[in-house]
Amino acid sequence: MTAKTAAAKYNCYKHINMKKNKLGNTDIYVTPIGLGVLTIGNTQLDLPLQEGAEIVRYAYDKGINLFDTAQYYETYPYMREAFKDVDLSLDNPDRPVIASKSLDCTYEAMEAAILECLDALGMDRIDIFKMHEVRQDPDWDDRAGAWQCLLDYKAKGIVRAIGVSTHHIDVVERMAGVPECDIVFPLINYAGLGIRKGSGAGTAEEMAAAIQKCLAAGKGIFAMKAFGGGNLTGTYMKALDYVRDLECHTIMVGMGKKKEIDDLIAYAEDRLPADYQPDVTFKKIHIDQGDCEGCGTCLDRCPNKAIYINERGLADVNYDICLTCGYCAPVCPVRAIIMW
Ligand code: SF4
Ligand code: SF4
Repeated sequence: MTAKTAAAKYNCYKHINMKKNKLGNTDIYVTPIGLGVLTIGNTQLDLPLQEGAEIVRYAYDKGINLFDTAQYYETYPYMREAFKDVDLSLDNPDRPVIASKSLDCTYEAMEAAILECLDALGMDRIDIFKMHEVRQDPDWDDRAGAWQCLLDYKAKGIVRAIGVSTHHIDVVERMAGVPECDIVFPLINYAGLGIRKGSGAGTAEEMAAAIQKCLAAGKGIFAMKAFGGGNLTGTYMKALDYVRDLECHTIMVGMGKKKEIDDLIAYAEDRLPADYQPDVTFKKIHIDQGDCEGCGTCLDRCPNKAIYINERGLADVNYDICLTCGYCAPVCPVRAIIMW
């Protein structure tokens, strides 16, 4: 079934009033809101396959055209199920734009990650593939093999656009000077939560300035963590307005409920009043102190240094800086880290 037939069957697209933004110098057009698929997966809501796929499909049917996932998220099955009747070929102008990424450092591992993604989603080419979570120097240089692989797969036409996701101002600034980098996916929110600079914290203003350099250099910009991992959802409009005013091409938001999708689409279509505030239920990472063995693995994995070892020798979370990204959960050997 083609996307148009699917649209007719599911009565799709009737609400689509969202304009699309051109992603920098690429010829890819995306809606100003994208769905971060992390949220439905096993590091966060851990939704059953059909339930998670329904969220992805709902977002697509309501008009969102950009879906960002990652090898690390283990969410490809949801997307495969959600889009099982959609023509995902790049020849279909109504296709969902799919972006994935990998933490891998070497050429071989990045190649395997690209091929795994294509196979898992039943595609022969993909719009966007990125290096996932590039950190401060020397991480970029250490991952030169992975970047070369992305360059080669772009040259072969298998990946249309390549780039990086990062929490680091240094990396965003550096990408402005890398001509082959098409897409930059920086962490940005008005409070500066989770923004890194060198080995310490950076500010929202510094990251905003780095983003402007990338915009001037023709990069496509996805904005990450506009709500600071849920910590800024209580100032809903302020959080979104801040990022939108930076003229990022899309705001990528992890959504696990249809209401959240409806709200963000209404925002993108300027249908929300300036004082709109959704009823939000904050979900947090919890470390089961009965299961934790104090091994410390999660401390190294946390990008924001939000986990510490408490006086009992067990892991605990500093909620003032936790981004609710869920990255720590999969590395726990005893599954002591959960989100509810
Ligand atoms: S503790 Fe760290 S890795 Fe875990 S959810 Fe919070 S910010 Fe993310
Ligand atoms: S990885 Fe798991 S067991 Fe190890 S310190 Fe963290 S929560 Fe505890």
